[in-house]
Amino acid sequence: MSRKDRILGALLGVHAGDSLGASYEFNSWSALQDYYPNGIPHDIVGGGPFGWSPGHATDDTDMTRAVLLAYKHCTATHAADATDAKDSRDSLALATVAGNYMLDWYEGRWPGRRLGSRPVDAGGATRVGLSTFSGSNPRDPRRAGAGQGQAGNGSLMRCIPTALFADKAALVEESALVSAVTHDDARCVLACAAYNTIVAALVDGVLPADAVEAGLAVLSEDTVELIVATFTGDDGEVVGTLTKENLLEALPQVQSAISKGKAVRVGDLAELGPDEAPGGKAAIPLHASGYVLESLTLGIAAVLDTDRTTEDLLVDVVSVGRDTDTNGAVAGGLLGARDGVEGIPALWRSKLQFGQEFTEIVNSLVK
Ligand SMILES: [Mg+2]
Repeated sequence: MSRKDRILGALLGVHAGDSLGASYEFNSWSALQDYYPNGIPHDIVGGGPFGWSPGHATDDTDMTRAVLLAYKHCTATHAADATDAKDSRDSLALATVAGNYMLDWYEGRWPGRRLGSRPVDAGGATRVGLSTFSGSNPRDPRRAGAGQGQAGNGSLMRCIPTALFADKAALVEESALVSAVTHDDARCVLACAAYNTIVAALVDGVLPADAVEAGLAVLSEDTVELIVATFTGDDGEVVGTLTKENLLEALPQVQSAISKGKAVRVGDLAELGPDEAPGGKAAIPLHASGYVLESLTLGIAAVLDTDRTTEDLLVDVVSVGRDTDTNGAVAGGLLGARDGVEGIPALWRSKLQFGQEFTEIVNSLVK
């Protein structure tokens, strides 16, 4: 499998997990058991609380697209400037462009939606974060975000383009800055850095267990120092609400979320429910209802289950219930990086709203 297969797999995996899970958002595990005693369909069928057409992107894929377009834009800009060395691409500028594309989505300049119409499914922290970003002058991802304490999965679900297209040396700072546009909570920022580290390793062909160890290894005090430096302004003061203390407090929590992912199986969670599955109560006490670290745990559990296919694992992640589309998107990105494009059923791929566009962008950026 080529690197390019894994990169496209990661993007389409986010989209497929999102579109698969969109049909069941907010339903508990037990409600899904009642509605689907034989299990949910292994198909992308649309519907759900927002009445999606099959394969329609929800906020997870839409905002992933926003970040993806930023990498495309900045690569093109970079190519036009022959004096600029590749490794000097400005991460702050990249994250600002990503935020501007997110505003296109939020303010109604987006494919498939009436011009000027707002998305029906923007999360609370995303609304606050983007409004703050929009009002910052000049726009600055470090002055955006919903603040400490807002630790939903709304940045983890859309962070993957950084794993795929950032220069390796800039992966942590770009993960942090792109997260902070909406989610500057230390847990969210560190979760994105760890997730993207894992995805980048998978894309390089590293085995899942070793990729997850790489994700744990990046959760270090050195990384905290790097992020603090990234969020420090020219005057030496930290810009925004993210502090070293926040990051040091979050570090063991994000490490623990990854370790919990090693201790549970998504097959058990889907079959027995989050309360009865072995390790389930400790791993996802909030039932995967949107907390960033629970979505991370589920994704880690999925990618480590190397005996099972992307298709079966995504169906099981979604069957756990609650934030089904985002849990599917987060796990889908990891599984797509692990198993490549071919791991995603062709029928699913044929339905994805942005499948063709994502393919064209990957073809243009990856040789
Ligand atoms: Mg969604």
